[in-house]
This record gives sequence, C-alpha cells and structure tokens, in this order.
Amino acid sequence: MIKTLFKKRSLLLSLLMLAAMVVAIQLYIERRYLEQVEEVQTQAVSELLGTIRYQLESELTNNLSLINGLAAFIASYPDFTATQFELYASTVLAREPALVNLAAAPGLVIRHIYPYEGNEAAIGLDYMRQPNQRADVLLAVQTGSMIIAGPLELVQGGTAFIGRAPVYVPDETAAPAAPREPGAPAAPAAPREPRLWGIVSAPILAATIYDNAGLMNLPADLMFAMRRPASSGGGEVFFGAPATFQNPAAVIMPISAGGSTWEIAAAPPVALLQGGTAIYLLRAGSFVVFLLLAVLLTLRHRQTESNLALKNIIFRNERFLRAVETVSQVGGWRWSDDLFTELSTQARDIMMLPRNDNVVDMTGFCFSLDTRSAELLSHYITQAVKLRQRIDQELELRRREGRVVWVHLKADVAELEDGRVELIGAIQDITQQKKVDQLIEYQANYDSLTGLPNRGLFQDRLHTALLHAQRRSTRIAVLFVDLDNFKSVNDNLGHDAGDELLVETAQRIQASIRAEDTVARYSGDEFVALLLDVFSASVVSRIADEIVSAMRLPFVLDGRQVYCSVSIGVAFYPDDGDSVDTLVIKADQAMYEVKKSGRNSWQFYTTAMQLESEQKHHLYNELVVALELNRLFVVYQPIVEAASGRVVGCEALVRWPLEDGGWIAPDIFIPIAEERGLINRIDLFVLLTSLRFLKELNAALPEPIALSVNVSPRLLHLRDDDAQDWLRTLEREKNVKVTIEITERVLVEDSGSAHEVLDQLHRAGVQIAIDDFGTGYSGLSYFSRFPVSSVKIDRSFVQDLGLRATETTLVETILLLASKLGIKVVAEGVETEKQAAFLRDNHCDYLQGYHISQPPVSYTHLRAHETGRNL
Ligand code: C2E
Ligand code: CA
Ligand code: CA
Repeated sequence: MIKTLFKKRSLLLSLLMLAAMVVAIQLYIERRYLEQVEEVQTQAVSELLGTIRYQLESELTNNLSLINGLAAFIASYPDFTATQFELYASTVLAREPALVNLAAAPGLVIRHIYPYEGNEAAIGLDYMRQPNQRADVLLAVQTGSMIIAGPLELVQGGTAFIGRAPVYVPDETAAPAAPREPGAPAAPAAPREPRLWGIVSAPILAATIYDNAGLMNLPADLMFAMRRPASSGGGEVFFGAPATFQNPAAVIMPISAGGSTWEIAAAPPVALLQGGTAIYLLRAGSFVVFLLLAVLLTLRHRQTESNLALKNIIFRNERFLRAVETVSQVGGWRWSDDLFTELSTQARDIMMLPRNDNVVDMTGFCFSLDTRSAELLSHYITQAVKLRQRIDQELELRRREGRVVWVHLKADVAELEDGRVELIGAIQDITQQKKVDQLIEYQANYDSLTGLPNRGLFQDRLHTALLHAQRRSTRIAVLFVDLDNFKSVNDNLGHDAGDELLVETAQRIQASIRAEDTVARYSGDEFVALLLDVFSASVVSRIADEIVSAMRLPFVLDGRQVYCSVSIGVAFYPDDGDSVDTLVIKADQAMYEVKKSGRNSWQFYTTAMQLESEQKHHLYNELVVALELNRLFVVYQPIVEAASGRVVGCEALVRWPLEDGGWIAPDIFIPIAEERGLINRIDLFVLLTSLRFLKELNAALPEPIALSVNVSPRLLHLRDDDAQDWLRTLEREKNVKVTIEITERVLVEDSGSAHEVLDQLHRAGVQIAIDDFGTGYSGLSYFSRFPVSSVKIDRSFVQDLGLRATETTLVETILLLASKLGIKVVAEGVETEKQAAFLRDNHCDYLQGYHISQPPVSYTHLRAHETGRNL
C-alpha cells in the first residue's frame, strides 16, 4: 500500500519535472522566437520608417526647392512686378499642389501673395511684429538658408509646414534696411556684399505631405507617430499616436529638412510582438510533446515497475528455490558435452565443489573422486545419453581425500535443437538417510547387545547358503548353542552381569568358528552358528569341541568368577533336513538331548531323535482325537493332614486310557500337549470335570474337601478361549475351595500377565501351591512377590528321605523355612510309613502319596472310581 503510494508519488514527481522542463524549454523557445520576431519586426519597421523618412524629407525638400526657386527669382529680379510675381507663383503652385500660397515679404513685410483671393489679410503683415513667426524668420535671416517650421495651424485653416527663405540681392544702393535684433552686432559694411531683400515664404499643406509620404496608407495595426524633437518644440507629437514614442519596441528616426528636425517613430503591432498564432501553435506543440512524453514516461514507469515486480518475483522464486534446495538438500544441475554447464549452490555443496567455478568439466570432477565412484557416475551419465534414458540412482561419492557422501542422482534427457543431448537433473544428499537406513537395517538384522546377526538375518543367510549348497552340492552345518545356567546367573548376579556373560559368550563362539561362518543370537541365551562348505563332520566336531572348551573357562562378572557351560546340538544339510526351519529344529532337538544327558557338551542330531519326534507327532494326533472323543478322564489323589491323617483335599490328575486297557502317562503326553498348544483344553476339561465331581462328593461328606488342579504355565498367559474360560470358571467358583499347582518355572519366568492372573485368582480366593518344589530354581524371592500359600516338596526328595543326607537336610530346611514364612508344606510321593513319620516329626502339614492312597491306574478301575468312591 505504502509502496504503491510511493511509486505513484515518484511518477507524479517525474511528470511534474517533465512539465517544468517542457515549460522551461517552451519559455526559452518562445523568448527566442519573440526576439526573432521582434528583430524582424524592428527591421521591417526600420525599413518602413526609413522609407517614410525619405519620403517626408524629399516631399519637404521638393517644396522647399520651389520656395528657393522663388527666392532665386527675386534675387535676380528684385524689382519684379506684381504680374511677374503672379505669373511665377501661379506656375509654381500649379506644379506643386502642396503649397498653399507663395508670399514675398520685402523688408520682412508681406507685399505679395499668390493667390491673392482668400489671402488678402496677409498683405502688410510685418514679421517682426508677429511673435509666433519672428523667431523663425530671424533664424532664416541669420542662417541665410531656408528654414521650415511647423507644422502649425494656418490662419486660413488647415495645418501646414511653413518654409521661409531669405532673399539677398546685390547691394548697389545703400546699407540694408534690414531691421536688427537689439544687441546684435552691426553687419560690416561691404560694398559688394549682397543685401537682405526680405523673405519669401510658403505654407506646405501637412496633409498633402503626409499623404505623399504614404503616412495615410500605413498598415492599420502599425503604431506611428511624429513629433517635434525634444530639444526644440518640446517634443510635442503632432501626428499619430503619442504612445508610440513610449513603446519600448518603437524605432525612432530623425527627419531633417530645411534646417529643422522632427522625429518619427513606429512600433510593430502588439499582436505581432506577442507572437500571435505561432506562439499558440508552439504552446500547443509543447503541450502535445508534453503529453507524449508524459505517456511515454508513464509507460516507461509502468514497465520499470513491472520489470521490478518481475525481478522481485524472480528474486523471491530464486530465494524460495534455494531455501527448498537447502531444506531438502537437493541441488540442480545441467550437463552437456561432458560439462556440468549449470550447478546450483546446493549441488556444488553436495558435490563438494567450490562455489565459484563456473562450468565444471566432468573429467575434472571425476578425477576428484575415487575410481569406483568416478566409474559409476560416468557410467550412469553415458548410459543416459546413449540410451536417452532417465537417471534415478543412489550413488556413493567418495572423494580421493576420503570424504564420502551418499547422493540420489536424478536426471531427464533432453535433446537440443542442434541434436546434442542435455541432461537436466537433481542431486540430493541422502547421507543422513543412508545412515538412518543403515542403522535401521542394522537394528533389524543385528542384536544390539552382542552385535551378532539376529534370528532374522541368520535365517536369511541360512536360506541363501542352502540355495548355494544345493547348486554346488556342498554340506552345511547348523549349530544350536544354549547356555546351561544362564537363568541362575541372571537371577543371582543381575541383568548387567547376564548381559556381560552373553557378550563374552558371543565373542568366544565367534573366535571358535571360521571367518566365513556366521554366528547369530537366536533368542535370550540361545545362539546359532552356520558353518558353510563342511566337507567332513570332523570339522564341525572340532569347532563344537572348541566352543565347549572355550565356554568351560571361567567368566569374570562383577568381580566374581562364574562358570557357564553350553549345550550344543548340530544338524547337517542335506543329511538332516533341507529347509531353514528343519535344520534349526533338529539342531535344537540335538541340543535338547545334550541337556537331558547332563549338559556341557555337544551332539549331532541322530535318527533316534528323529524317531522320537515322529512318535511325538503321532501321539499328538492321537491326543487330539482322544480329546475330541472325550476319552480323557480325571482321577483324584487324596491329600491328608499329616498330624491327624484326615483327608483335607485331593489332587486332580488327568488320565489317557488306551483301547487295549493300557494308558499313556501324563509325563509323556502333557509335554507334547504343552508343546503343541493343546494343554489349555486339557486343563479346562480337568477343572470342569473335577469341580463337578467335588461338588457331588462334598454333598455326601460331613466336611467338604478341597481341590488341587495342575496348571500349565501356558494357561496363565490366557492366549486362547480355553484359558479365558478356565479363568472365569475359577473366579466364579464359590462352593469348592480350589488350589492351583504351578511350577517354579512360572514364577521365575515371571511374565507380567502370569503375575496378574495369579493376583486375580488370589483375590478370588483361589490358593496357589508351588509344585515339584526343590527341583527347579530354588529361588525364594518369589514368595514375597507372589501370593503363594503352599509348597509341594517333590517326590524325588521324599523318596530319598533317610537314605541320602543331602535330600534329608533339604527337606528339613524347606520345612523350617516354610514355617517361618507361614507357608504350608505338602509332601508328595509319600510311599512308606517311615517317610510319613519323618515328615510328621518335622512338622510337615500335609501328605500325599501311594502310602496314603494310590490314584487308580487301570481303566476299569478308574471307571469304577471315577465318582471318587475309592477315596
Ligand atoms: P505331579 O503334579 O507331580 O503329580 C503327581 C504325580 O505323582 C502323579 O503322576 C501321581 O500319580 C504320582 N504319585 C502320587 N503318589 C505317588 C507315590 O507315592 N509314588 C510315586 N512314584 N508317584 C506318586 P501322574 O498322574 O502320572 O502325573 C504326572 C504329572 O503329570 C503330574 O505330576 C503333573 O505334572 C502332570 N499332570 C497330571 N495331570 C495333569 C493335569 O490335569 N494338568 C496338567 N497340566 N498336568 C497334569
Ligand atoms: Ca501336582
Ligand atoms: Ca509334583
């Protein structure tokens, strides 16, 4: 707004200046023109005036010559007669009509006059007595020549100049009778000197003179005047406009005739002096010129303004582009004939070029790069030019001095009019993005703790290796490495120590394998190794040996020496499998075998394992059918109060009878059900069945007994509908007192959800017992974290009671500890009275085992006791 106002103002100012200039020039030209006009006018007037002067002078002089003629006549015939005078005068007057009359005054008294008629009054007029003529007459006498006076009013009317001439005659007689001015010196007596006879005079009609001199026909607008000179007659103007003499442009000229002078003046007409139409035309012209210039100026101004606006837009666009370039780290470039003909600042920065070089030649630029970068770049450009193909490539530019930048190079190919090819492109610095990508890729593929490839990358590499091995008929080995006591290290020394142990383990495994092989962290404390081109199993056994021995060396964690061995299982391609999954599973199975047979060693996968796994698979299928056909059932083993022997509860145990009367032990099918995800359905079935049974039973008993059910760790994760149903059933159950038996594993591998479920059940009045207590991790910390109400000493300890000191002490300790913690103890697997006695003596709360009651085993037996009557 202010800007436009300012611009308007500047235009206005320019226009004003232009106007001032035009006016100034106009005034100058006008003045010069007027000066010229004046000069011409003055010239013309002067010329005219000169002519008039000449005319007047000659008119007057002509008439005077007549008077002089008369004077000469009289001088020759001083004694002329009246008739002679008349004759002479009539002849002269006839020739010169301007002359009014001719008079002769001998002795200065008029004696003759022609024509006589009308002039009779003049006869006898004595000049010396005429005050208005005396001076003129005396002057004529004194100068001896003719004097013209006037103009003056004639007695007989009209205005006339009067010419007077003295007449001298030879003095033959006496002294002149001429009167003398008083005081004038007496004329010296000279006998031969002519004597003044008198004067002759004649009025010359002014009108005729003027007419003859052309004064009557002067241009109408010409100013003209005539006067007596300022010195003599007082400057009185007697003809024309007196103002003429006051006109500064007037030309004044003297006229002299007959001894007198006058002045004539003429001035050019005012209109002419002001320049007249020419000036108006000039002014109009100037105005038109001004208008034209003003239009031009305005146009020019507008153009300048629009240019400025354009420049502004261009400038803004450029700045905008530059900002965008900087923000996006994208630069622009043009290439043709092996030259970068244009490079934006950003492009230069990205290409690590100085900002001032004008044109960058390609070879020079390539020379600053390392060979590979240069080759790639040249290749892309030549290909683009040759095939008329766009470039869209990511490229690593490495400069010779070591700086590296990742760029995204894009270009379109344009064909120029002369057939040459030009590339117009963009270059983007994607170094940061590459770094992020690399980081993401690293994070996606590598384990952050150990820096080893993770499970995903391992699987990829194994997959690729399998394809290679297939093609080249080579062998591959997969090692599954599991730390033996990692959990306890973690629990006892803390997670930092655990992490350190993992890192060190990774290093030891890595050090044991060959450079071309891969070690990966598979999960928590599991590692896998991929060994390529294994020609013989002995190579693998040597490597496995090395890993096991390396791991036997102590770790120093947190300043303490710690031992942590590994169990390794090995599977081969193509011997044990040809897919990623199979090979890993088989190596895992082999590892598991090592675990079972005492850990701290390695083993190849064997066909026995294969057989076992096949059997497992078969059993699983059977179990699915059995569940479906409702062939499973539940038996109940009583739990008695140690002191009184009173039955206080029972443990529900699932049974899978076979058609042939035999059965499959839960120890066999429960792990399979757990592995394959069937356990939750089984546990739900057991819970529903046993609750129904206990309600019936309790109805018949004087004192209700409690129910214990075994719970798989899986169930507590509540991942499926069965688990949800199970939880809801337990929560709603108000009539039967229920204890759930969980293993220590559940608590050690404390997942948030298990913890929550246990709390929830505890609040709902469900009791929690730790099953197989003593076999697992033996940590006691979880007692404070979980609402545990009882522990069940594992039957392996009970069976050794009194036989082995360690087990005996352990049972004693458990009982002591539990009583201190206010936790009830159930002894499982009590088979003898001796055991029962020992437990009673050591204040064990409850007993369970064949000694008290054996859960029914045979199918028929079970059927008969299903309702619990065997209790
Ligand atoms: P457990 O929880 O420790 O169950 C006690 C096992 O010890 C039962 O074996 C029982 O028959 C056996 N037993 C009882 N008294 C004696 C004795 O005096 N001497 C000896 N040698 N054994 C005795 P069973 O029924 O074969 O069950 C084995 C395991 O299967 C159970 O061990 C339990 O972990 C699991 N299991 C059984 N039923 C279920 C179930 O319904 N759900 C779940 N998740 N697991 C179950
Ligand atoms: Ca149990
Ligand atoms: Ca048990």
